[in-house]
Amino acid sequence: MTNPILSDWKTPFQIAPFDAISDDDFAPALDQALCEHRAEIARISGNQDAPTFANTVEALEAAGTGLDRVLSVFFTLAGADSNPKREALQRDFSPLLAAHFSEISANKALFTRLTTLWNQRDDLGLTPEQARVLMLSHRSFVRAGAALSGALEVRMKKIAARLAALGTSFAQNLLADERDWAMDLAESDLDGLPEFVVDGARNAGADKGRDGPVVTLSRSLIVPFLQFSPRRDLRKTAWQAWSARGANGGETDNRGIAAETLALRSERAGLLGYESYADFKLETEMAGTPSKVRDLLMAVWLPARKRAEADAGVLTQMMQADGVNGPLEPWDWRYYAQKRRQAEHDLDEADLKPYLQLEKMLEAAFSCADRLFGLTFKPLDIALYHPDCRAWEVTRDGAHVAVFIGDYFARGSKRSGAWCSAMRAQAKYPDVQTPVVINVCNFAKGDPALLSWDDARTVFHEFGHALHQMLSNVTYESISGTSVARDFVELPSQLFEHWLEVPEVLAEFATHAGTGEAMAQEMLDKVLAAANFDMGFQTVEYVASALVDLAFHDGDAPGDPMARQAEVLAELGMPDSIGMRHATPQFAHVFTGDGYASAYYSYMWSEVMDADAFAAFEEAGGAFDPERATALETHILSTGGSQDPETLYRAFRGRLPGVEALLKGRGLAAG
Ligand SMILES: [Zn+2]
Repeated sequence: MTNPILSDWKTPFQIAPFDAISDDDFAPALDQALCEHRAEIARISGNQDAPTFANTVEALEAAGTGLDRVLSVFFTLAGADSNPKREALQRDFSPLLAAHFSEISANKALFTRLTTLWNQRDDLGLTPEQARVLMLSHRSFVRAGAALSGALEVRMKKIAARLAALGTSFAQNLLADERDWAMDLAESDLDGLPEFVVDGARNAGADKGRDGPVVTLSRSLIVPFLQFSPRRDLRKTAWQAWSARGANGGETDNRGIAAETLALRSERAGLLGYESYADFKLETEMAGTPSKVRDLLMAVWLPARKRAEADAGVLTQMMQADGVNGPLEPWDWRYYAQKRRQAEHDLDEADLKPYLQLEKMLEAAFSCADRLFGLTFKPLDIALYHPDCRAWEVTRDGAHVAVFIGDYFARGSKRSGAWCSAMRAQAKYPDVQTPVVINVCNFAKGDPALLSWDDARTVFHEFGHALHQMLSNVTYESISGTSVARDFVELPSQLFEHWLEVPEVLAEFATHAGTGEAMAQEMLDKVLAAANFDMGFQTVEYVASALVDLAFHDGDAPGDPMARQAEVLAELGMPDSIGMRHATPQFAHVFTGDGYASAYYSYMWSEVMDADAFAAFEEAGGAFDPERATALETHILSTGGSQDPETLYRAFRGRLPGVEALLKGRGLAAG
């Protein structure tokens, strides 16, 4: 009997036959797929013929189709519809997969073949896309340490293992410090807190087996407590405990781990021939070099600090009017900012929600995709993994483009957050395959389902990622769709969010669920203004963290990261009343793994581009300017990772992005 995951899928559009697959099929399918992939790799690396692009790079592209299928079906379900069995499988699979892929990148014969081709690259008659794929494959082997041998190779492996262990300890220590601390509240300490904070404090107290309500260090409880509690003494105690996470001495202290992590990263970069870890890390990003990252962050830092200082003045006055003297402290900022928000932006989410129906927001996203790119969405009646999933066939001029799947409602079996993934990525080699793309969100069900403004933005954000997958038009799967640099991948998604704010889109689709009336301009103005509230504070706390992250990885590793952090903040003139968004002992992005190490800036990098890219539409004929839309598809949405992102952006915009549009968008522009 053939395993249904690995058999031919005779379903419409060859979508996985979910109803025929049982959880017992995954382990044997993965086993078989790994065996097949290993055999394919062995054939490619053991080939007696001289290496050619076809027998090596293209052969690698064509290998592992079974593995792709198993992983795509399994991870779709593990993320969006898990159960204990699937969770157990996930724990079993992750070391198997890690071992499989590290075995491939340690394959010397394969690396030798790629190196031979790389050295002959100018004489192979490659297309630009082929040259790019060769460069990327060769580079990923080099960066994994395939060029090292003997003692250096051994050291490299030791470093990797130690870094993984340090990352795990960092995360566990942080969790332990967050778990262990709680502040008991008397009933009178609840005065002034809104109901949801009171409920949260009572639930947290019950969870911890305390007699009454408590404040814990969970972000979802402590941040609203700092925003709403009029008790300055309690805010101070809570804030100090929050900012001491990972730095309390004893076994859960993260400061030593941070220092060792930075030293090992620096050594690893040195072994691979890079000047610093930041040089190594940024090589594969659009930013490219530490100095470009610093330039961008500093261009944002100065106006943000200026705005924060002006805001601090307003908040200090409010505090003094409350009878509190002395400087504004970090435990005061959120409280007075919240009071100011209530005074200046009296927007009630409950009034807004009826205007944001999920169905209408989907229609809006589809309508924008039609006006910009000529895409049509037709509902499909097919069986998927959960009754809440819906599917559409996407066509252009009658021709099939993709299948789009939406799984929008929260449920216990779904992990939190929102994401987009390709259940099948676009490619033309070895065969033409059209994309099957899914958006997964966690909205509350309702009849009709109503969204918050953030939720509506999420619909557009994830749909922007989906467009990047659906409009992909490249030959090789390894570079298709969203297979691009980390600091480039959020451009299509964040850019698409701008269309939600286009007045004619809102006028047509943000209509009241009961009356059918369009949202009034006054309400829209309030929504947009509220989105930029306290941007000086938010930008300062973010950019300070990003600059400390960069300083840690650029140049020699600091022996004492806390001293280096203090030095960087002093050089920046960090306002005393604002803490870093993530201080070093809590900086999980940077220290629990290396994904965001010296790359925490990337959120802002993408925002610079999306603001600048949308400005290109506004400068032309408006949000639906057809020439700009064509340029966006031609140079960014269809190209995947087939060229370096700087080239792609320049082709779209005629120049690289400047920070002006971002500053304007955040309300930080001068004037
Ligand atoms: Zn995203």
